[in-house]
Amino acid sequence: MLDPAELQAKLQLLNDAYAAQLPEKFRQIEQAGESLRQAVWDEEGFQILHRLVHSLSGSGKTFGFSALSEAARALENELKLIGEAKQVLDDAQRDRIGHLLRELECSASQRDSAVVLQSESIATSTPSPTANFSGRICVVEDNLEMADELQAHLSYFGYEVSVFLTLDDFRRAMPRHSNDVVLMDVNFPEDSLGGIHVMTELQRGRDVPLPVIFLSAHNGLDVRLGAVRAGGVAYLNKPVNIGILVDKLDAMTSTQVSAAYRVLIVDDSASLASYYAEMLKQAGMIVRVVNDPLEVLGPLFDFSPDLILVDMYMPGCTGTELAQVIRQIDEFISIPIVFLSAETDLGKQLSAVGFGGDDFLTKPIEAEHLVASVTSRIKRSLVLRSYMVRDSLTGLLNHTAIKDRLAHELARAKRQGKSLAFAMLDIDHFKQVNDAYGHPVGDRVIKSLSRLLKQRLRENDLVGRYGGEEFAVILADADAAAAMKVLDSIREDFSRLRHLAEDQEFSTSFSCGIADNSNFGEGSKLTDAADKALYKAKHAGRNRILIAG
Ligand code: GH3
Ligand code: MG
Ligand code: MG
Repeated sequence: MLDPAELQAKLQLLNDAYAAQLPEKFRQIEQAGESLRQAVWDEEGFQILHRLVHSLSGSGKTFGFSALSEAARALENELKLIGEAKQVLDDAQRDRIGHLLRELECSASQRDSAVVLQSESIATSTPSPTANFSGRICVVEDNLEMADELQAHLSYFGYEVSVFLTLDDFRRAMPRHSNDVVLMDVNFPEDSLGGIHVMTELQRGRDVPLPVIFLSAHNGLDVRLGAVRAGGVAYLNKPVNIGILVDKLDAMTSTQVSAAYRVLIVDDSASLASYYAEMLKQAGMIVRVVNDPLEVLGPLFDFSPDLILVDMYMPGCTGTELAQVIRQIDEFISIPIVFLSAETDLGKQLSAVGFGGDDFLTKPIEAEHLVASVTSRIKRSLVLRSYMVRDSLTGLLNHTAIKDRLAHELARAKRQGKSLAFAMLDIDHFKQVNDAYGHPVGDRVIKSLSRLLKQRLRENDLVGRYGGEEFAVILADADAAAAMKVLDSIREDFSRLRHLAEDQEFSTSFSCGIADNSNFGEGSKLTDAADKALYKAKHAGRNRILIAG
């Protein structure tokens, strides 16, 4: 993010650039104004004139020319009446227009005193991380075997684990681990409540308490109470159920700073578009600008915006037309589209919204208002979208969503000449797991694989729950061999995980088939190929991965 001084300087440059192009704008307006002096009604010339004036009324104030905005608006109102009549002007009308045109040019010499920017209030709209947890875990446990087991299991799930076998070791090392989550045993040889006592001591004087989960074989209220007072956020009985522990840790560490919001701006005015872009970037968003509305499809697919900000009147097509086109593309059926325009006519605003837009912001708009509107729209749509596309048990993309994404990602990979691998995974003999340990335990196994996949794959990779105990993975920028490498290490780790059901332990495995876009360029061919490879892997003995073809 820019600091306020830098932003101020950038905006000043934008303002100056705006001022510099005004003489040319006036020349164009004058030229277009000729159309009104003709002996016959010139609709095309009139439309050009209207659009030029309209754009000044919407942009002037933003760049420190409030008087210009007002003068343009007055002229525009007059033009609206003329445009409805579509008749050659009478003398009185010509005089009025001439007068308004002169006023417009004069108004350009009045610049507003200073652009006052409240960048602090813009900055606070940025989504912020909820905690500063490091993703590392300290296990403090005197039983070596148990400590090793915890370490092994947690590292399968992507956590970095340090083990301390004595309370003293932990006490000494603590300053270097002050952002870690602590997994603390309660009972130590020297003190049956040693874990609680040491945590109580370490929490003293801290502004932010150390997050600690206590592990104990005792279940009495007194011990639990002591644990809570020592800052315990969870209390797990031994033997520790890893599934539950990892659930807790995931919940505590879900600081995944929600990825920055992505906004696509479509506005034929380059200066206004960059002004809005600066404002939104200042609030931590990622912005792409398209000045020619007819060029929008490429960026739409490549950039995958969370929201589209569309100018209403542009040469080539209008904002409402563009919104309708975008809405007819399946992937963008639910993307918020917000119109930005100098249009103040409520009826027109409403009809624009009726054509597939979600909101209407009136130019000139203040930075804070713009950021707040865009932020709240995106937030709401992301929540709604997550209900539509996420599987409720695992939080992974659901069947439809992952298939949609595959089509999308394949097209992108093709355009960019990149490779893409698709994998289908299926848990082995899962029916037996359900039969032996019950459905809820089966669910937990499904969740553990989902978590493992999410944590071990790259952020750009997409994971979906394809069916009951079937998963689909899209690996961007990877061929089948590269996909094999990562997935096989996940396969190995998954087969080593021990799941707990009541007092029994068991492990399970998955089989997997992989195909890539070098052999199968089409969505259905790619999924078929991966599915066939998976089937072969099952028949070859399960717990293995095969590449299609
Ligand atoms: P294979 O190794 O050939 O894949 O054997 P399998 O037993 O895993 O295969 P099959 O497809 O016959 O059985 C899948 C089982 O998964 C049947 C179904 O009851 C169970 N299942 C599907 N969805 C869920 C779920 O959400 N939770 C639980 N616990 N079980 C599920
Ligand atoms: Mg199965
Ligand atoms: Mg199956």
